[in-house]
Amino acid sequence: MPTANEIRAMRQAIALSALGLGTTSPNPPVGCVILDHHGDQVGAGFHRRKGEPHAEANALASAGSRADGGTAVVTLEPCNHLGVTPACRQLLLDANVSRVLVAIIDPTSRGEGGAAVLKAAGVDVEVGVLANEAEAVLGPWLTATRRRRPWVVWFASALARTADTANLPAVRDLRQQADIVIYPDGQILEGIPGGHGKGRLHHPTRIEFTDPIASLNQLFDGGTRTALIVGDTEFARELVAREAIDQALIDVPRTNSDIVAADQIKKLPIFGFRAETVTTTSDAIRIIARPDAPHSPSDSGDGI
Ligand SMILES: [Zn+2]
Repeated sequence: MPTANEIRAMRQAIALSALGLGTTSPNPPVGCVILDHHGDQVGAGFHRRKGEPHAEANALASAGSRADGGTAVVTLEPCNHLGVTPACRQLLLDANVSRVLVAIIDPTSRGEGGAAVLKAAGVDVEVGVLANEAEAVLGPWLTATRRRRPWVVWFASALARTADTANLPAVRDLRQQADIVIYPDGQILEGIPGGHGKGRLHHPTRIEFTDPIASLNQLFDGGTRTALIVGDTEFARELVAREAIDQALIDVPRTNSDIVAADQIKKLPIFGFRAETVTTTSDAIRIIARPDAPHSPSDSGDGI
């Protein structure tokens, strides 16, 4: 069982991992915290982008020799392959950590990942620690990897109908955690310009409308794991029809007029989605929605 210190370290690692959102793809956003043999935090790190050190490497580097006999707390199973950077399981063995806590097993490791090798080398390995909480950051990457198409967030706002949507504060915020943004005119831009590093993310400059799912598969092959679609466009509606939207953010601009608000709500594409959270931003009421559960004709009136 993880100690209270270890649970706290995993929460810190999860929070840290979010710093990689929007730049790590096709790699996952991962965070790592190192505790020394007393249980005190001596190092922390996250993965920023492909080709740069993994979270474990950054955390071990900050811990130095204090990792000796300590515990590594990491949100995703340490890798077991020599890629652009050394395998993390080897770095952990070299640092002589005695215990490794993992939130989620890497679905691409097929049981031959770092956890098994570390265990075989005599390290005390515990997996599934705060797995649900770690999914708050890793969930979209895991889903995209399993499906081989990006996690799609749809920003369906009454404000997002004009050409100037890129300058909407909401879009500026949302694009920080998306690999790419697809604008109402079909233009595709990197969420954080230059965020993935040169030549690491490949995408067309415009979206193809002919086969929306094929377009998403193509984006996945180019490294995209999360996509933000802005505006109530034909492309977005095609994806709704094919149940390829993972999350919808529906903004209703703030107004003092009941009549204007009702009119705006009437125009919103809120069918087929179920509200999870209703919150407010500086300029709107925001409905955060998920696709309706697989529905039958008799199951209506329940979603929004
Ligand atoms: Zn690694």
